[in-house]
Amino acid sequence: MTTYIFGHKNPDTDSICSAIAYADFKAKNSEKDVVAARIGNINNETKFVLEKFKTAAPVVLKDGAGKKMILVDHNQEAQSIDLRDKGEVIEVLDHHNINFASACTIPFLTEPVGATCTIIANKYFDTKTQLDEKIAGLLFSAIISDTVIFKSPITTEKDKTTAQKLAKLLGIKDIESFGIEMFKAKSVWGKMTAEDILEMDRKEYDMSGSKVSITQVETVDYKDLVPRKKELLAELSRIKEIRGLDLSVLLITDIIKEGCLLLAVGDTKKIEAAYKKKLNAGEVWLNGVLSRKKQVVPVLEEVF
Ligand code: MG
Ligand code: MG
Ligand code: MG
Repeated sequence: MTTYIFGHKNPDTDSICSAIAYADFKAKNSEKDVVAARIGNINNETKFVLEKFKTAAPVVLKDGAGKKMILVDHNQEAQSIDLRDKGEVIEVLDHHNINFASACTIPFLTEPVGATCTIIANKYFDTKTQLDEKIAGLLFSAIISDTVIFKSPITTEKDKTTAQKLAKLLGIKDIESFGIEMFKAKSVWGKMTAEDILEMDRKEYDMSGSKVSITQVETVDYKDLVPRKKELLAELSRIKEIRGLDLSVLLITDIIKEGCLLLAVGDTKKIEAAYKKKLNAGEVWLNGVLSRKKQVVPVLEEVF
């Protein structure tokens, strides 16, 4: 029976590259019939990475019914495949907080590092599994993406040494400019509708019974999106209505200025309480805030 490896909904580069690399790692270690999959569209950044390292996108998996599954880069049900409980999760490999229940004992590995691909790269190193240039490229890109070129506070020493080791293998000398080129590929806002932008990397959270949605988009200049603020706020409201949310948030992260412009609709008092700053017409600039996982989700959970 085929085992499918996949990351979260609205997959980011780490989710896609983790799935591809971990399937390759399993295959090279004689685990048969393991297939990389995805449960959403590929974003422009990931498209750039897959083209650069000449790799095909994983297959789309519609639901988990009757499937054998390995989860990478997520574990929570809300971010996972539909009908997951109708199939069997046989392993989890992740770097997020744990919100998972299983009736049987399974390999469940989480590490507090900046990217799932950091964990996978080290599996190759530790077991001396042969690492092709393509896979090395994917692992490297995902680490650079998730750690925002090491600027995000989620970055660990292990992420840096792993990415540097991969860069050396790939002959990449300037990690910073590789990263900026990759983030630029993502920032093609002109071709995207407000809905595309909001759905690109949107995650939903249950915060003490309140439903919160947080989208994060990384930019090389947040000002490129400012002219579309009205449209983005309208889309945040629309998502709030259709998803029955209490709070609908967009983080426009600026990787050069190292901060984010936060737009929000709904119970915005919670944001004001969390950051002790007033929102002005639905927006507030948060200096130094680059990580949704470390600097936004726990801070909001605290006030909820
Ligand atoms: Mg991810
Ligand atoms: Mg990740
Ligand atoms: Mg990410």
